[in-house]
Amino acid sequence: MDRNQVLKKCGLDVLGFCPGTALKEEKAYLLDRQAHFGLCKYEGQNIEERLDPSLQYSPVKSVLVFGINTKTRPIQLKKGQGLLAGISRIPDYHILLKEAGNKLCGILELEDQAKVLVDSHPLMERAFAQRAGLGYIGKNTALIHPVYGTYLALGLILTEKIFPYDKEEKGTCGSCNLCIKACPGGALKGGGILDPGACLSYQTQTIETSPGQVGPRLYGCDVCQEICPKNKEVPLTRLEQVVDRGINKEEIQDLSNREFKKRYGHLTGAWRGKKQWMENFKSVEAYWARKSKE
Ligand code: SF4
Ligand code: SF4
Repeated sequence: MDRNQVLKKCGLDVLGFCPGTALKEEKAYLLDRQAHFGLCKYEGQNIEERLDPSLQYSPVKSVLVFGINTKTRPIQLKKGQGLLAGISRIPDYHILLKEAGNKLCGILELEDQAKVLVDSHPLMERAFAQRAGLGYIGKNTALIHPVYGTYLALGLILTEKIFPYDKEEKGTCGSCNLCIKACPGGALKGGGILDPGACLSYQTQTIETSPGQVGPRLYGCDVCQEICPKNKEVPLTRLEQVVDRGINKEEIQDLSNREFKKRYGHLTGAWRGKKQWMENFKSVEAYWARKSKE
């Protein structure tokens, strides 16, 4: 079966293969980030675990990197509405990737010889994706794929089986600095360094926001993706059940947690529950109050 057939069978958009040896060059990058800005709460704090697949599964000879395109249509907010970033408006990609990874293991006959990792693991997915020829890491810290730009959600399979490996990608952003200039939080520091505490996407997911801090964002931030010229021609995701509108506070405020989960729980951006959205609505309301005075 050729790679395109495998992708189609698994509902995936990309697949790359690379050796399972530990990453080396990325160590200095992670240490630098840790020293200056700290690592994000949702990523692994142990640097060796970020780099070495054998600390997750052993023996590991190959890493398979697979992904789905998450690009959604931009939406126009109506007055008072909160904005869900593109990836947060699609069905939970963690579940989709896990299912696809398991299917992939079946097709490649890797059962009992592999581990599927999606999201809740410390490995630097993007660096393995680069090693597996799927793109390079841009100044906005995202993987930039030649077709899907920065819109891939990625998963990994660690296996003891050896495959023919893809050629590592070596591209760069060149002199472009558009995302750094456009970032509303000033979180992009150049050289692919991100200050997580300053990133509005991170703030919408983690900290109690004070009014006005994250603008109209209810969950996530798309600015550094929308501005990126590498994303101009990216096709829309094949995924269905995408929410393509802003969210009104009235539609969630009276829901019980169970009702919220039933109505929105399938979305990527709902995993922190109703409480986080309601907290972020303080900022959304402050944003619209400011707008009405302009
Ligand atoms: S997600 Fe938004 S705040 Fe975070 S780095 Fe990108 S543009 Fe900046
Ligand atoms: S906007 Fe420019 S600098 Fe930023 S990731 Fe895209 S190409 Fe690279």
